[in-house]
Amino acid sequence: MSDRAVRIAVVGAGPSAFYAAAALVKQEDVAVRVDLFDRLPAPYGLVRYGVAPDHQNIKAVTRAYARTAEDERVRFFGGVDFGAQIDLATLRPHYDMVVFAVGAQSDRALGVPGEDLRGSLSATEFVAWYNGHPDRRDLAPDLDVEGVAVIGVGNVAMDVARILAKSVDELRGTDIADHALEALARSRVERIHVLGRRGPAQAKFTTPEIREFGTLEHADAIVDPADLELDAHSRASIEHDRVSQTNYEILQSYAERGATGKPRQVRFGFLRSPAEIHGRDGRVAGLRVEKNRLVSSADGYLNAEGTGEFEELDVGMVLRSVGYRGVPLPGVPFDERRGRIPNDHGRVLNPETGEPVPGMYVVGWAKRGPSGVIGTNKKDAEETVAWMLRDLRHLRRAGIDDRPGHRIEDALREAGCDAVTFDEWRAIDAAEVAAGEAEGRPRRKFVDVAEMRAAARG
Ligand code: NAP
Repeated sequence: MSDRAVRIAVVGAGPSAFYAAAALVKQEDVAVRVDLFDRLPAPYGLVRYGVAPDHQNIKAVTRAYARTAEDERVRFFGGVDFGAQIDLATLRPHYDMVVFAVGAQSDRALGVPGEDLRGSLSATEFVAWYNGHPDRRDLAPDLDVEGVAVIGVGNVAMDVARILAKSVDELRGTDIADHALEALARSRVERIHVLGRRGPAQAKFTTPEIREFGTLEHADAIVDPADLELDAHSRASIEHDRVSQTNYEILQSYAERGATGKPRQVRFGFLRSPAEIHGRDGRVAGLRVEKNRLVSSADGYLNAEGTGEFEELDVGMVLRSVGYRGVPLPGVPFDERRGRIPNDHGRVLNPETGEPVPGMYVVGWAKRGPSGVIGTNKKDAEETVAWMLRDLRHLRRAGIDDRPGHRIEDALREAGCDAVTFDEWRAIDAAEVAAGEAEGRPRRKFVDVAEMRAAARG
């Protein structure tokens, strides 16, 4: 191996990208230099634009990411769009290895009639809107409705239901986007129906998330005791699973407490699937749901099966929260069915041969699909990095031309990218924090890329 440091490009600058960069600079066997590229001038991906604004404690993890970014071997190139401005051909001459840390930017559809009506949205869009993602700042969801249905009982469903249920006073001290705070202040939403297609024992939310609904100032958590009746399989499954057991007990406590007269209600319903979204004048005007029963498959998995019995819900908005999905990138293999980059423990695979594509790696949700909490990505990235270090032994090193005029910075300039550095991001960050301080908020987010760039340059 030559003495020169191994050059690694990481496409994406969210949690998995930072965990990969951290693992690369922590090891001492190989000298490395790591460049992170993000489409937006701001780093941190899902922590900034996915984690709920009222969960600031989770966002504190960015301090560790900033320490990684400050390592002299790590650089950040913000506002560089892989796919639109640059591609593999741009990066290849400058790097030995490219790691994709692009997450899962789209969502799964329900596949029911009416899904395209106005007022039928994905949680992905809604979350991006309230978190101030520049792509979704103009979403303008119509909150002039009394009933909302949230489809799915994972943690994203909990986030969107909670944000809709909280009073504006509960949200004011967060870094929620200004436009969302204003819209939520005018919200007429009174009922939020959270619907699981399977039973309470199969719900995907975690304990702190379901427990939080019992502490909301402005909303009661409501569960119909009939929805908590368990079949024998479900009863047996929660007996062996402490988390499910605790979650079930929390739901039972909501069923026992009932309504206490708060202005809003979050009604958890189980064994119910959306069948059709009704429309009036192109807008959501109701939701037809089918009641389900659980049937055990050969491998013991409990599936929801429709009973042919239907109910109508009076809602003006439907938020599907049934999982995120990856988006294919030009020149990068993609598994359409699973919505992610095909890989073997993080080595990207050629879908035709099943063999690893030399020098191409993947981490995070793009690697394993949209599962786990932020911290899950640490181990996941470390696994990929371990393979990268192993592969280095037999990877033919590209002759990298480092003379002025031949560097990645030059290639970016040629591609029309005005990349934002980490120091410049710090200026954006400082401006946001200063603007928030005046109002007792952690920050006031810029939601416009041009404004971010202006702040970056002081
Ligand atoms: P998730 O946990 O996989 O939940 C998806 C939900 O959608 C499940 O309830 C699933 O039900 C349901 N579903 C799927 N297809 C459906 C359909 N066709 N009809 C009705 N329901 C359907 O995914 P997520 O909520 O998007 O979260 C993604 C990951 O981020 C998770 O690992 C989550 O824990 C994590 N996250 C964590 C936090 C936090 O820590 N606070 C916050 C947000 C997200 P089935 O079980 O029946 O498939």
